[in-house]
Amino acid sequence: MLRMPELLPDAHLKTIEWLTKGELKALLAAGMTTVADVLHRVPRRYEDRRISAPLASLVNGETYSLSVHVYGAGWRFAHKRYYEVTVGEEGNPYGTRLYLRWFNMPYVAKLIATGMKLSIYGKVKAYGGKLTMSNPDFEVMEEEDAGLRLAEIALGGAAVPRTEIGVGGELVHTGRIVPVYRSVSGLVMRRYRSIVWRMLRELARDIAPPVYDVAPAYPYREALQDLHFPATQEASHKARMRFALSECFLRLFRVTWRRRRNQQSRGQITATSDGYLEELLASLPFALTAAQQRCVAEIRADMASPRQMNRLLQGDVGSGKTLVALCAMLLAVESGHTAALIAPTQILAEQHYRNFCRFLQGVDVRVSLRTAARADDTDYLAEMEGDAAPRIIVGTHALLYKKNRPSDLGLAVIDEQHKFGVLQRESFINCGNNPDVLVMTATPIPRTLTLTLYGDLEVSVIDELPAGRGEIVTALRNPDNTKRIVAFMRSELAAGRQIYIVSPLVEDSEASERKSATAQLEHWKKIFPEEPMGLLHGRLSADEKDEVMAAFRANETHLLIATTVVEVGVDVPNATIMLINDADSFGLSQLHQLRGRIGRGAHKSYCILLSKAKPGEPGREKLEVLCRTLNGFEIAEEDFRLRGPGDVLGTEQSGLGAVRFAEWLSDARLIHRASREAARILNVDPQLKLPQHISLRALVADDGEAAVVG
Ligand code: ADP
Ligand code: MG
Repeated sequence: MLRMPELLPDAHLKTIEWLTKGELKALLAAGMTTVADVLHRVPRRYEDRRISAPLASLVNGETYSLSVHVYGAGWRFAHKRYYEVTVGEEGNPYGTRLYLRWFNMPYVAKLIATGMKLSIYGKVKAYGGKLTMSNPDFEVMEEEDAGLRLAEIALGGAAVPRTEIGVGGELVHTGRIVPVYRSVSGLVMRRYRSIVWRMLRELARDIAPPVYDVAPAYPYREALQDLHFPATQEASHKARMRFALSECFLRLFRVTWRRRRNQQSRGQITATSDGYLEELLASLPFALTAAQQRCVAEIRADMASPRQMNRLLQGDVGSGKTLVALCAMLLAVESGHTAALIAPTQILAEQHYRNFCRFLQGVDVRVSLRTAARADDTDYLAEMEGDAAPRIIVGTHALLYKKNRPSDLGLAVIDEQHKFGVLQRESFINCGNNPDVLVMTATPIPRTLTLTLYGDLEVSVIDELPAGRGEIVTALRNPDNTKRIVAFMRSELAAGRQIYIVSPLVEDSEASERKSATAQLEHWKKIFPEEPMGLLHGRLSADEKDEVMAAFRANETHLLIATTVVEVGVDVPNATIMLINDADSFGLSQLHQLRGRIGRGAHKSYCILLSKAKPGEPGREKLEVLCRTLNGFEIAEEDFRLRGPGDVLGTEQSGLGAVRFAEWLSDARLIHRASREAARILNVDPQLKLPQHISLRALVADDGEAAVVG
């Protein structure tokens, strides 16, 4: 008997008596504890198993979903025993025949008999003049209660427990658009699908999404049904868009909340006068670009206000973000504060430190480098306090640890934000004396996403590269013919230039990474025996990496053989060639970052992409994009189009957390709709005191990154 629909989304799976022990265990082990957990697990894809063709039109090798009548059934033997069911169109005993064969599934014989109606799904193969299907997925569709005798046959042929579930004559696995989920260990797909189906069936009528209903016109329950068992492709699309909107809304709601909170949070006035800044600008051999000047002005206005600054500085590789950050830091120092810059790696921290020292030669401000290696050094910590204390500190994330934070921190600059998460950023924003926070990112992000990821921040964009930059030529070459490339490299080396050679990281074990990097080095040593070379890979210690980088920067080594360690931020203006092996195995944004290592001086530079990918092959298109444009934002848009935002950003690192419905990430209209709704709620009810906003308040109260759908 079917039960009355009364299942509530937050019901624990334990309370569902029709789940077997084994099923319950498998679901729990996969991290699902409530009905909602199961129903919010999104199908990975759908299979259209709606009746697809008349029998007479079947083509060998194609997959079909068919509705058929059983004309005969029995055991056969050829090499091995199998059960064969002869089917055709109902009421057409002399029409086309199809032979369904089940191997190693004796129980099928107990389920199918002559005269039954079947819905089947499988691939047609012609054997000895007969059209056959091996181990097709099937359902018996005869009487009202056909489901009570539902065959629990897995597509692959594995036997499953014969739990009987109430299907009420409706098709679940065939003859319709069928959901396919990521596999759950211990449950065959068919079984899992039946569980979802039955839960939906028994779900109480009037239920609301867990946190907030952003689209009440399309009831939540109906949307769940369409999400899992859509009647049409349009219905599944519509449902996905509803949940995408909902996910996007919850995300933006938190961002909007944070932004409003930040706007109210009192900070310090960290820009009073600009003596140091004037000194710096006067000593530079170049002028700030107009874009840099604008960004400095924006940052300065924030710092001069009593509110806490939360600003994002976005700019393509080489646009000169670091200098803008330094300007801000000098403003903070002049007003009596310490300023800190946090870099994602030791190499970058070192480099910033060195650049700051160079820039500040004519300015009386002490700069200090602070990295993990020295974080626990007490003498060193003591030196950090008192009159002689450095006013500018550059470091790695060791600086993030509370005890290492200077007590008079007025400005924290976080470089390459995408390498850190939102939580780390928050840890600065919320730390004791509310320092101004400037985050910098060189990963260009499409506009729509900026709002999602950084919607809690004000944004400054450096949209112009400094003048006098050498041109960058990008070329795509076949690795089988490197003669001319080598000749060209030789001529650049002869002209005193330096070269990066980057290879993808194929191995993941320490030994093999070292080995493949070393093999590259040997290879190039044979070609350029007279040239000093450096080898940089992830398995070197921080000190070793620094040494290698320092030698390259000082032009003691002329070629740098590297893995993607050089990807971010490294700055050696004399390097003019970036040679990338197996370029197609890198992501587009990553390639753009790599290319950003050259063209940093006045010399013309060359990015050479080696790849075997032929036109039209996967991996080729992004290389063509790279050859076509140098514009980071354009490249980001393409990258998102080719790979999807989740893959591009690495959702964990980017602070995106788990994204279930990637649809919204690139849907500007949806994002704006969600953002408007978030703003509307906070305008009407800034403290979230209204009863209908209680769960929203809970959401922002713990402000976790847990993904919620609703
Ligand atoms: P980003 O961090 O944005 O990739 P950097 O700050 O490393 O870029 O700057 C790249 C290079 O450009 C550095 O060598 C820097 O000294 C130089 N630079 C910065 N601003 C200017 C400018 N206005 N004119 C000329 N060179 C500049
Ligand atoms: Mg930089």
